[in-house]
Amino acid sequence: MTSLTASALIVPEHGDSSVLRVEEREVPDPGPGQARVTVAASGVNFIDTYQRGGVYPVETPFVLGMEGAGTVESVGEGVTEVAPGDRVAWAMQLGSAASVATVPAANLVPVPDGVELDVAAAAMLQAMTAHFLVNDTYPCTAETVALVHAAAGGVGQLLVQLLKAKGATVVATAGSEDKLAIARDRGADHVINYREHDTADSLASAVKEAAGRGVDVAYDGVGQATFDASMASLRPRGLLVLFGAASGPVPPLDPQRLNQGGSLYLTRPTLAHYIAGRDELLARSGEVLDLIADGSLDIAIDSRHPLTDARAAYDALEGRRTSGKVLLVP
Ligand code: NDP
Repeated sequence: MTSLTASALIVPEHGDSSVLRVEEREVPDPGPGQARVTVAASGVNFIDTYQRGGVYPVETPFVLGMEGAGTVESVGEGVTEVAPGDRVAWAMQLGSAASVATVPAANLVPVPDGVELDVAAAAMLQAMTAHFLVNDTYPCTAETVALVHAAAGGVGQLLVQLLKAKGATVVATAGSEDKLAIARDRGADHVINYREHDTADSLASAVKEAAGRGVDVAYDGVGQATFDASMASLRPRGLLVLFGAASGPVPPLDPQRLNQGGSLYLTRPTLAHYIAGRDELLARSGEVLDLIADGSLDIAIDSRHPLTDARAAYDALEGRRTSGKVLLVP
């Protein structure tokens, strides 16, 4: 084995997308338990923007990117999980936005033959997240009435598909007529343009009117802009699942509001805790990739950008101009 030169997307100091740089870097041989992977594609995610901006503490400089897929190039001592030539994907691994990434072998999952590598990269964060949200955070069934915000987004489109596969009723929100059409195409039963509602009460009334009652579960990855409406849309003892903050963080909350809303539940889950061990990672990724391979789950790829165009990719995501996964292709 020899060290390699690879391109990497660097955050030299915290800031907006203008800080991003592509650099050529030496990638050392993989250490014990590690695999060196030639990256086919890596995913652009909101968590990258929280890390880039310093909201989530990551010391600069660092290589951006939390998910990817590619082909194992070499492995370090003691690696049994993968071998050179294997097609693999991974999630929640900082340093993925590069032409070569070094990843703990235990965090790599096999990509089945029927799934392209870029689709696998696109599925890692968003599809595994949608999967745990509908199966584990709240066990959705045909009786479930669910609210999905930003339903034309990456996670949103996947949530709608997985909920409809269970027979659940879905009330979807989005910010434009084109996006509402996407949510409807994915199977949403009711669609609401939340930009037409100035207040949380107005949006919650529209949700309850569409659903015929308060929803059992509200999936909210938008955060600040929708949180109050999500809470007000729930039935007594309903669950608010705050899984992201695309519009900004939710301010501190008085627990008494959960009482006033009807003994409500609130959770703030993250994927890392739902792929915590190798068994759970393999089971969840395996289920998601099998659903993609047999055509039951469709991954919408919004756009593919070279690493050198990463700034535009992030600006599009943060500027609400995307519908589905944005990929970086080294
Ligand atoms: P999306 O593709 O859903 O993009 C975000 C969407 O949110 C936008 O397209 C927009 O849709 C809507 N939005 C509303 N207000 C704003 C705003 N002020 N700024 C930006 N977007 C806004 O992104 P993802 O699917 O990648 O992620 C969705 C959420 O899921 C994020 O909060 C992300 O952090 C979270 N997430 C959480 C994970 C976890 O483990 N907890 C894992 C993966 C993602 P519209 O135009 O329709 O309003």
